[in-house]
Amino acid sequence: MKTVAVVLEEMGRPAPYAKSKPLQLEDLELTPPDECEVLVEIVAAGLCHSDLSVINGSRPRVMPMVLGHEAAGIVREVGPGVRDFQPDDHVVFSYVPVCGRCTCCQSGRAALCERGAVANTEGSLLSGKRHFSRSNGQELHHHLGVSAFSQYTVAAEESLVKISKSLPLDKAALFGCAVMTGVGAVVNTAKIQAGQSVAVFGMGGVGLSSIMGARASGAFPIVAVDLLDAKLALAKKAGATHAVNASDHDAVEAVKNITGGGASVTFEAVGSEVVLAQAYAATARGGKTVCMGLPHPSKMLSIPAVSLVAEERTILGSYMGSSVPRRDIPRFIDMYEAGLLPVDLLQSSTLKLSDINAAFDDLAAGTVARQTVLM
Ligand SMILES: [Zn+2]
Ligand SMILES: [Zn+2]
Repeated sequence: MKTVAVVLEEMGRPAPYAKSKPLQLEDLELTPPDECEVLVEIVAAGLCHSDLSVINGSRPRVMPMVLGHEAAGIVREVGPGVRDFQPDDHVVFSYVPVCGRCTCCQSGRAALCERGAVANTEGSLLSGKRHFSRSNGQELHHHLGVSAFSQYTVAAEESLVKISKSLPLDKAALFGCAVMTGVGAVVNTAKIQAGQSVAVFGMGGVGLSSIMGARASGAFPIVAVDLLDAKLALAKKAGATHAVNASDHDAVEAVKNITGGGASVTFEAVGSEVVLAQAYAATARGGKTVCMGLPHPSKMLSIPAVSLVAEERTILGSYMGSSVPRRDIPRFIDMYEAGLLPVDLLQSSTLKLSDINAAFDDLAAGTVARQTVLM
């Protein structure tokens, strides 16, 4: 069948993207779902900083690629052997396909699925197959098994989570990356307890979701750190009790003052080794520093080594919020519907697929939380 999709031909084109146009709308061929695969009509897809990191080359991927990894849609066709889905089901995508059989999956570490990681690195589905091609026969790579910036996509059933039809799909999309990653880091990775002090660095979609997760977990105080007052105002609505603008304050000192010597748990949601070092410095003795952002692979973190022992500190990596998608996406949706996670405030604006280059300029400028493409 035919689909209109956004293709990233090469990484590293210079900003502004409205001018250099790294993303091009193309008419592509999409082959039908094979064994254990599903054809999904994308209804809504979010623009995430990890997409931007592929565009600017700080998260290198195989090119050319149909980009996009945060989405929700409707099942239109299922391949042979699919048991968990049928046409008309509403689904959210997990950006790690969860095979359920590898050592990581078997130990409850679905976000680290070994087969999923191999497929994502190769830009294929879990089966190793690719379904998008150009009219000249050239195959295109899948982005994290999702490739959301397309009218239709084919995904492994292991990349899908069935959701209730009562939730609007533009809201549902946010649960696929921002909410699963940000709330998951709080409840799964850090296992926040009521009354623990928290500081979150970076108020993008993931950072704001962490603020919501911290609030729902009963953390206090909850300190939001960002460079923009507008983002900090959003953080207050998300549940932050304090806001620190790092462009006119020493963020580490400010967090220490508010929390009485350092936050029990800090979260880094920028993807900067410099900010990660600040988050570590703002963590209390005996505390945890949780890294959610993805710095360029060449970047190194430098910390006082002795502090790990003498101050019993812990640094925790959190990929996809250490989530198990089929457990966590439905429960985070339940929390949203119960009023515990004000996810609506993440959505800054909606746009058409044809406006996507300029929208990534806005994301790069840091002025928006989540922009959602409506197909
Ligand atoms: Zn993302
Ligand atoms: Zn696995």
